[in-house]
Amino acid sequence: MSSSENLKIGVSGLRGVVGDTLTPELILNFAQAFGTYLNGGTVVVGRDTRPTGIMIKYSIFSGLISSGCKIVDLDICPTPTVLMMVKELKAAGGIVITASHNPLQWNGLKFVKNTGMFLNPDENNKLLQIYSDKNNFKNNEWAKLGNLIKSSKNPEKTHFGKIFKHVDKKAIRKAKLKVAFDCVNGAGSVFTPLFLKELGCRLIPINTKPDGIFPHTPEPVPENLKDLCKLVKSKKADIGFAQDPDADRLAIVDENGNPIGEEYTLALVLDYILSKKRSSKVVLNLSTSRASEDVAKKHDCEVIRTKVGEANVAEGMIEHNALIGGEGNGGVIYPAINFCRDSFVGMAFVLSYLAESKKKLSEIIKTLPQYKIVKAKFELPKSKIEIALKTVKEKYRNEKITTIDGIKIDWNDSWAHIRASNTEPVIRIAAEARTNEQAEQIVEKICREII
Ligand code: MG
Repeated sequence: MSSSENLKIGVSGLRGVVGDTLTPELILNFAQAFGTYLNGGTVVVGRDTRPTGIMIKYSIFSGLISSGCKIVDLDICPTPTVLMMVKELKAAGGIVITASHNPLQWNGLKFVKNTGMFLNPDENNKLLQIYSDKNNFKNNEWAKLGNLIKSSKNPEKTHFGKIFKHVDKKAIRKAKLKVAFDCVNGAGSVFTPLFLKELGCRLIPINTKPDGIFPHTPEPVPENLKDLCKLVKSKKADIGFAQDPDADRLAIVDENGNPIGEEYTLALVLDYILSKKRSSKVVLNLSTSRASEDVAKKHDCEVIRTKVGEANVAEGMIEHNALIGGEGNGGVIYPAINFCRDSFVGMAFVLSYLAESKKKLSEIIKTLPQYKIVKAKFELPKSKIEIALKTVKEKYRNEKITTIDGIKIDWNDSWAHIRASNTEPVIRIAAEARTNEQAEQIVEKICREII
């Protein structure tokens, strides 16, 4: 699907470098293709704080209006809020303008269907088919153009209100937790302080200027959260939260200023939710930590593993009627509130856990299963990736392997997952074990076997 290194058109939308590959014309065509795909109707549009979002937004508007769509413009808005509003407003679909954790020069579009979920790979392929030929486009005559409409609903109130129905707000407020947080000047910058304030938290914010100028590399992984870690420690906060630029992923820092690692956001939330509510099934993607799986099993849940990709996890959750699921990149999905990764849902449940247990976060983390993940990726031509995957499959044929998305090998207390990237000529290897050294050894061994 990818046409060049700086443009990724694939099963989860498109991303490119603005002014290079991501041009107004390309965006306009995609928006018109999406309007055609939906056959008109209301479309909710939101964006993260990247300054390039304005150019993109107006190109989208033009394409959608020409194909007869009515637009509800949420402008700067967290991704999970946009998805929720698509459903709330009974819209035909939505577009989120974001390149998530990618660097500032990147931006992109993600397409949402009327259920408040992202288009799945098949649906994205249908959209790409329409996009591939402009003759397919719905191009309405002047009297049948769409327009911009105002929504009567206040997006943050709707979003927060839904979350608050699922936590004991009074108990959280009573705990008066001291919360440091880093919104990386992204889409969480405006809503997050309001949200935490409503939960009675004492706020210690950094990077809450919604100008999209990221003060550090935006992916919320430990090496990028040094300022937040220091802040938690120096201000003696109970917890630190970090979001990515579009506020769907959540990373957590404990009260000693130690980042717990994004994998543990989901494990922590699972431990809390499953201790309160029974669920027979939990859905995780293949690359999510064994820690989450062990926690689910501790609470007598069956674990279903899906292909990597948020849409695949969300669809797996519908299929198996799961109470909760998600991805190890700080992505908590709780369908009773929202059918996508939602950092606000994650924050509410973790604060609830702290308030109810009256324990320190580091004490709770110590009770969770301990694993370390090591990831590697390298470029290989497509034909060689296929050979590499065959080699691994053959080599480990006597182990427990899963082949729905590359090859996953499961051992007693470790695993490895080898898969091709959806968007680039790259092979990814992830391995998890009880210690970093063991996980590294697994990655190195597999690298030697396939190169
Ligand atoms: Mg994101």
